[in-house]
Amino acid sequence: MKKTKITIDYSKCGPGAPQDPRECRKCLYVCDPAVFLMHPTLEEHPDPWNPERWKITPVWPSMCMGCMKCIDVCPHQAIAVEPGQSLHMLRAP
Ligand code: SF4
Ligand code: SF4
Repeated sequence: MKKTKITIDYSKCGPGAPQDPRECRKCLYVCDPAVFLMHPTLEEHPDPWNPERWKITPVWPSMCMGCMKCIDVCPHQAIAVEPGQSLHMLRAP
């Protein structure tokens, strides 16, 4: 079973990139199953209380419905989706 793969290009959106995800959030708003999470980075900045370095992570790719709304709405073409077998397909009659 091929799993859905979703990747974010952090050179376009994230710490040090032109886009701070906190000022966009469009992928968060359009994704009905809420695949994405916006959170502070720990690996690039060890201080978890520093509010300046945030990024988007597709934490639940198995919930992706393959609608491609996130790709259409992202102003920096930072999201890639390779649709596979998702949980909603497995639940379908
Ligand atoms: S393709 Fe649709 S369901 Fe999948 S992550 Fe993007 S917006 Fe969410
Ligand atoms: S829509 Fe694109 S630019 Fe905006 S927060 Fe999501 S990944 Fe970043």
